[in-house]
Amino acid sequence: MVSEVNWKKSFNNEITSLVAIGKSVVDRKLVVGSGGNLSMLLPDRKQFLITATGSELDQLDQSSFAIVDLNGNFSEGSPKPSSEYRVHLESYRARSDINTCIHLHPQASIFAAAIDEDIKLITTDHLYYLRKITRIPWIAPGTQAVADATALALADCNIIILENHGCVVVADNPRLAYSRALNLEEAAEMTIRSVMLNVKPRLVPDKFKEYLREKGL
Ligand SMILES: [Zn+2]
Repeated sequence: MVSEVNWKKSFNNEITSLVAIGKSVVDRKLVVGSGGNLSMLLPDRKQFLITATGSELDQLDQSSFAIVDLNGNFSEGSPKPSSEYRVHLESYRARSDINTCIHLHPQASIFAAAIDEDIKLITTDHLYYLRKITRIPWIAPGTQAVADATALALADCNIIILENHGCVVVADNPRLAYSRALNLEEAAEMTIRSVMLNVKPRLVPDKFKEYLREKGL
């Protein structure tokens, strides 16, 4: 069991970042009600801060966060974590290069997957932020199975669509994770529009991939 800590003061930067993202993702309609959950790995990389079960993401404050260690133990000094904490736990275990994991229920991204459309990368931002998107067939939320499947898929991408459920986005900082989630939903909206118009949009040229590779981006 994680020892009780004065986490409200100790992790102020992480809490401030997650509170801001929570408000933004609800404002941008990437999630509604108490759906979705946000987490950040703490600087010791042994435990993470995650929204507590039932948290409304646009109404987060210092009391809205739980602490879980990378063995899956909950801190005695914090509320119960989101029921999806296993997805975050396994993501951090699988990827030593990330410190932010956000799980949302973005409508267009879910719908594009539900009509079996791969999300199209149309703008340079889509390609820059998204690169590769992996879809995972529906698995019951909150289970170890969905966490394991997510961690496996994260081996070579930062964006996962959980079919008929939502997305998982990871990054090495909260701002980048948020930008990835926004671009995912924008690309999904454009994809759906192209289906409705029965057109095949020109995608961002492969040359841009080469450019990013050359620049080490
Ligand atoms: Zn969910």
